[in-house]
Amino acid sequence: MIDLRSDTVTQPTEAMRRAMAAAEVGDDVYGEDPTVNRLQEMAAAMLGKEAALFVPSGTMGNLIAVLVHCQRGDEVLVGEKSHTFLFEAGGISALGGVHSRQLPNRADGGLALEDIQRSIRPEDVHQPPTRLICLENTHNFCGGTVQSVEYMRQVGQLAQEYGLKVHLDGARLFNAATAIVEQQGGEVRKVARELVEPVDSLMFCLSKGLCAPVGSLLCGSEAFIREARRVRKMLGGGMRQVGVLAAAGLVALESMVDRLHEDHRRARRLAEGLRAIPGLVLDAMTPVTNMVFLSLATDVPWNAAQVAARLREKGVLVGKVGERRFRLVTHYWIDDAAVERTLQAFREVL
Ligand SMILES: *Cc1c(COP(=O)(O)O)cnc(C)c1O
Repeated sequence: MIDLRSDTVTQPTEAMRRAMAAAEVGDDVYGEDPTVNRLQEMAAAMLGKEAALFVPSGTMGNLIAVLVHCQRGDEVLVGEKSHTFLFEAGGISALGGVHSRQLPNRADGGLALEDIQRSIRPEDVHQPPTRLICLENTHNFCGGTVQSVEYMRQVGQLAQEYGLKVHLDGARLFNAATAIVEQQGGEVRKVARELVEPVDSLMFCLSKGLCAPVGSLLCGSEAFIREARRVRKMLGGGMRQVGVLAAAGLVALESMVDRLHEDHRRARRLAEGLRAIPGLVLDAMTPVTNMVFLSLATDVPWNAAQVAARLREKGVLVGKVGERRFRLVTHYWIDDAAVERTLQAFREVL
């Protein structure tokens, strides 16, 4: 099967499976797993933060960050299309008692600086204190879109002015850095560091385009990570000989970050081919990174579920993100031949 539903479907590579089998491990709740410690140190150094923490999922990473930055009754500014607001089961309010204020997302997934500024509460006994701004880069629901280093700096500056914290949901941070390098040149790891320099904390996923089977990393100051470790334990995310998973994460950081441009190139080829097929309407700007968004033209007599079922018969799995809308995500296991076979399947079905 050619699975374009998400980059979360990525199986670990051979090198990862070997590293996992051979991993030196210890009890990570005691801080004694050497492989986890190495992964955390590598992640922190790569992103220019003091410390990092391995967490089982991106959702838990974002939740821990909000719980560390906020007290019950505090308010966090989030995008109305953010993953944290839409797809994390309301954890920040259910488990943290944190009040969310949803701001409109711009087309690129960012929050307008004026909207942020307007939403910051004055000190007033009637109102919840604004504590935290959450950003997302790349922005999943807005189309795998990218916010610039300059924008990240502007938000960081605004937060500093008002004494707020900033957390970045950087599930696909390295895709954002890769897209910026494709546009402006530079070095992916350096750009990633620049993107997160203005934020107090960030989470990125190993389990998506970086191809590891499980896990995300939360990064921030020593003090932030110390508290994050306690909250992770509280949530049941303290794991024992978890170096078997961290070993795959190390391979991901060493060898997967610098190949993401291949996924972006294949997404562009996929979009170009799909644009030429009558009955398909691609979003104007797609793809920005590794995601292609498209809809069925009004004269196509089938809905997305029907088209997806017929594509499945031809060995192609696509994501349905609306009644007549699809998301196709490229990743490590999608090669050039898979892109061409996908285009052929769409042509036959339509
Ligand atoms: C996938 C994703 C997450 C959550 O990661 P999980 O590991 O699936 O919990 C958070 N934010 C964004 C933008 C994501 O795409």
